[in-house]
Amino acid sequence: MIQADLHIHTVYSADSVIQPKTLVDKLVAHSFIKIAAVTDHDSVRGCKATIELASAYSDILIIPGVEISTLQGDMVILGTEELPPRPWTPEVVVDYANSIDAVSIVAHPYREYGMGDLTRNYKVDAIEILNGGSTATANNLAKELAKSMGLPGTAGSDAHQISELFSVCTKIDASLDVEAILKAIKKGFVSTQMTKGSIHF
Ligand SMILES: [Zn+2]
Repeated sequence: MIQADLHIHTVYSADSVIQPKTLVDKLVAHSFIKIAAVTDHDSVRGCKATIELASAYSDILIIPGVEISTLQGDMVILGTEELPPRPWTPEVVVDYANSIDAVSIVAHPYREYGMGDLTRNYKVDAIEILNGGSTATANNLAKELAKSMGLPGTAGSDAHQISELFSVCTKIDASLDVEAILKAIKKGFVSTQMTKGSIHF
């Protein structure tokens, strides 16, 4: 069982202050979270930079990704170092993810920029049911949505500040390998966990 924070922003998102190097250092230092998905807003520059830095360490893994701002709400793609083609509609994001064996996830459905009940219209792979920046009520609604749609639920801190890193994590039944992790998420071999206070400064 491995533990991953599947939603993190670096300075390549205009609203984050987390440097790729800081993320790598915190991951190396963390006692049990060794995997992080870098999902900047509409950019893959952050995940590329972080992967480069992380390649010096054999016990940590960066999952490349992006958080796409669609008109209907935010969507995370895990397993891509490229942006989907435009226009960025939920259908295009889903089709793009399918075409490259990536994972499409509806981010924080019941928060600002969330897709809410519209999620039901799209064939996404998973729903973010535990977001570090969402209220317990919003996370519970997301959990119910995933359950009613029969979809796997993921967890991500949605960190924009260093202190927000690793506040939640996804437990995944997979090896330390991006392809294996993506497959396990799609199959639902995942559970979510709150881990507040597990990062040390
Ligand atoms: Zn985000």
